[in-house]
Amino acid sequence: MIKLAIVSPCYNEELVLKESAERLTELLSRLADNQKITHDSFVLYVNDGSKDRTWEIISELHQANPFICGLNLAHNVGHQNAIMAGMMTARNLADAVVTIDADLQDDLQAIEKMVDLHAEGNEVVYGVKINREADSWKKKTSAEMYYKLLNFMGAKTVYNHADFRFLSKRVLDSLAEYPERNLYLRGMIPLIGFKSATVDDVLSPRLAGESKYTLSKMVRLASDGITSFSTRPIEMILYVGIFMLFIAICMFFYVIGSIICNHYTAGWASLMMSLWFIGAVVTLAIGIVGTYIGKVYIEVKHRPLYIISDKLLNE
Ligand code: UDP
Ligand code: MG
Repeated sequence: MIKLAIVSPCYNEELVLKESAERLTELLSRLADNQKITHDSFVLYVNDGSKDRTWEIISELHQANPFICGLNLAHNVGHQNAIMAGMMTARNLADAVVTIDADLQDDLQAIEKMVDLHAEGNEVVYGVKINREADSWKKKTSAEMYYKLLNFMGAKTVYNHADFRFLSKRVLDSLAEYPERNLYLRGMIPLIGFKSATVDDVLSPRLAGESKYTLSKMVRLASDGITSFSTRPIEMILYVGIFMLFIAICMFFYVIGSIICNHYTAGWASLMMSLWFIGAVVTLAIGIVGTYIGKVYIEVKHRPLYIISDKLLNE
């Protein structure tokens, strides 16, 4: 039996908290009664600098219900950082965490399956959205296109998985070794490794209120996803430079050819050649400098070189 912490970030969620707490308490006590988790498992609501009564409600819930705990952040730090704050706090208090949005759009049934899959030896269990009908058409298409782009850029992510996942204490301890600032948990967890599984996550509409993910927050997250895991955009500059150099060489032969055939306009040849050649040199130079910056970027991240999963030593 494990002690489970359900970490749930909340930003201006006063409309959903009571219902959310009720459902999560119900789930925790059922799982505890079925001997899957301990009776001191808990929900950890992380108040991400809300401007409404979110924290007051969490405090009231905590007074009345031993399953409910809270963490109050001093200001709004965003979804990813709020989840991280919750996970790093819970890691010293529980054996495993499940992160789930406070609006409970994700499938609560899946949490039991996550606990079962953990009992079978999985350290990470990803909730994978199988039904995005609760999301708008715009959100659905943009999300799917984005996952494809991320894959192309070389970031290892689980398709259609957001931040609904189960992590064991071992994974949380390994995650703590990643000191980076621009968090993109969907990319970091697969990077850590360990045995993992997925469960289906049937999405429902938000309990109440509106999406707290403004367009600018979404764009920032999307850009973090690419730039925190891939230096491919820089590599692409180098390829463009090489391509331009190739055109400059073709231009050179074309110009020589036209001079031989006496079929050219004065001034045109030298202009075209220098144009492509200078363009290629500048682009290549940016690409080369970029490659070094890419390396510096990877160095400053200070990610661990490896995470040990098991040891068989005669100590
Ligand atoms: N959230 C947060 N900080 C923010 C924005 C959102 O903690 O700055 C939380 C929010 O309360 C919710 C979760 O992140 O629990 C996901 O947000 P939301 O449901 O609004 O996003 P959507 O499901 O529309 O993508
Ligand atoms: Mg939501």
